[in-house]
Amino acid sequence: MIICLFWYIIDYIDVKFGGTNIKESKADLNDKDKLVQGKNTDVSTELVLVNKKYSLSKNYKPEALTIPNIPFADGTENEENHVAGIIIKPIEELVNTAKQEGVILLGNSAYRSYKSQKDTYSDRVKSDGRKLANAYVAKPGFSEHQTGLCIDMTNEDRYFMKGTKEADWLGENAYRFGFIIRYPEGKKSITDIEYEPWHIRYVGEKAAKYIYDNGITLEEYLGK
Ligand SMILES: [Zn+2]
Repeated sequence: MIICLFWYIIDYIDVKFGGTNIKESKADLNDKDKLVQGKNTDVSTELVLVNKKYSLSKNYKPEALTIPNIPFADGTENEENHVAGIIIKPIEELVNTAKQEGVILLGNSAYRSYKSQKDTYSDRVKSDGRKLANAYVAKPGFSEHQTGLCIDMTNEDRYFMKGTKEADWLGENAYRFGFIIRYPEGKKSITDIEYEPWHIRYVGEKAAKYIYDNGITLEEYLGK
């Protein structure tokens, strides 16, 4: 009884003061007015959390998808050249500043629609089986690339690893433009994804600086 009451109070506090729609079940969500499912419903766009627990709806498409004016690696498919409107300026500034500082960065893969993720996932299931597919490919709705807020970068050698000039520059400077290294080294237990020095995610300058200064992940920043 006491324990029940305790949980009730905790729940109440969360709902009342936490600001999250924690009580809202997925069934209550309508694709049209709640673009993001579950507990993600009231965060600002640039702080939306997409990972193995938090997904985007099938119909979620970022606003003002646009091709930024940055160089892309050869062979990047047209859809993947696009980013959400709010990150055009930040990504252009990041790439231009890198160039001024002697580092050539290329875009590799940014936006991926629900449909293309679904195709990639089901192709992988067919070729490698579901277990391997789940280990390497995000299920449709669970890829951060659907937000249009992230982009995989590369370099002219197509070898973007820790210790290369380009990856090191990105790791040290992305926050200046509002981006974070979304899957940092040593944080797999939190992000559930191996270190990816190439995958940067826009979160806005304030959050990016805080995350960079404290060496944390987006999950930790959002308290998830
Ligand atoms: Zn990526």
